[in-house]
Amino acid sequence: MIIVLKPRTTKEDITRVEQMIKRRGLDTHIVEGQEVTIIGCIGDTTKIDSKPFEVDSSVDKVMHVQEPYKLANRAFHPEDSIIDVSGVKVGGGNLALIAGPCSVESYDQVLEIAKAAKASGANLLRGGAFKPRTSPYSFQGLGLEGLNILCEVKKAVGLPIVTELMSPEHLDVFNEKVDLIQIGARNMQNFDLLKQLGQVDRPILLKRGLNATYEEWMMSAEYIMASGNENVILCERGIRTFETYTRNTLDLQSIPVLRKLTHLPVIVDPSHAGGKWWLVESMAKASIAAGADGLMVEVHNAPENALCDGAQSLKPRKYDELIKEVSQIAQVIGKSI
Ligand code: PEP
Ligand code: MN
Repeated sequence: MIIVLKPRTTKEDITRVEQMIKRRGLDTHIVEGQEVTIIGCIGDTTKIDSKPFEVDSSVDKVMHVQEPYKLANRAFHPEDSIIDVSGVKVGGGNLALIAGPCSVESYDQVLEIAKAAKASGANLLRGGAFKPRTSPYSFQGLGLEGLNILCEVKKAVGLPIVTELMSPEHLDVFNEKVDLIQIGARNMQNFDLLKQLGQVDRPILLKRGLNATYEEWMMSAEYIMASGNENVILCERGIRTFETYTRNTLDLQSIPVLRKLTHLPVIVDPSHAGGKWWLVESMAKASIAAGADGLMVEVHNAPENALCDGAQSLKPRKYDELIKEVSQIAQVIGKSI
């Protein structure tokens, strides 16, 4: 349930309506816009009688929200959320350009890629330290050593870092060192992990599950927000379909759909979507044209020797060309890099 107050309602009146809601055992989420104030009611509103609110002198209208997600719902927060990742703004016209290798392999490897990516316009550096691999025999990442390499490169190059958290055991060290904590596709519905994210001050990059519907994905964002961390960025990374030629199928429609359903920024990872480097450019450009708030692209200085996902990684020169083209599209649609 959402209560829209009349324009220029006083602070006292807002507090009074808030008290009325709280007396009914619900929580509130207040968004004070320039013109109107909206109060979102959080909790089980199915048995709440809306009449006392409808007749209140400060209330303009009462709306029922059908969707089970509330805090993530655009109805609760009509304006785009802008998430601050250690000074880099994402959303509301600001693009996140995340680039880097699938996995951290060595300091020299990440440093070389990070320098090149930054020179091309990337504003965030990615690199997996803890890798969710399908096979237990595949390279599992360098773990904490990989995380420390990322931190060293951050110091040298000056790009905030993005890396995946797989276990609550590393919550504290990630909170201390990681600028944007990634929750990967395979953990999108690891609800215990999601509930713990309220304890970190860092924003979260929530990737779409391999076969998650929009509603399931939004409910996972809701878990994080309800636990106390409202700084969530969503990442479309392709879904499982009957097609096997590509690694996954990029759901471009998710961009306009999610921009309608939620105020949270939506970025796209064309690398894991297609699984082929030559698909990245067209899908990246299409994503920006469709309204995405950014891109996460795997970049590797020697893809043929990469320990993970070389086939979908761009060489730095190709990434540079891509960002030039993306900038042109961004300019046309009024987004800034
Ligand atoms: C990744 O970004 O490193 C990754 C493993 O992606 P996903 O969780 O989307 O498969
Ligand atoms: Mn990868």
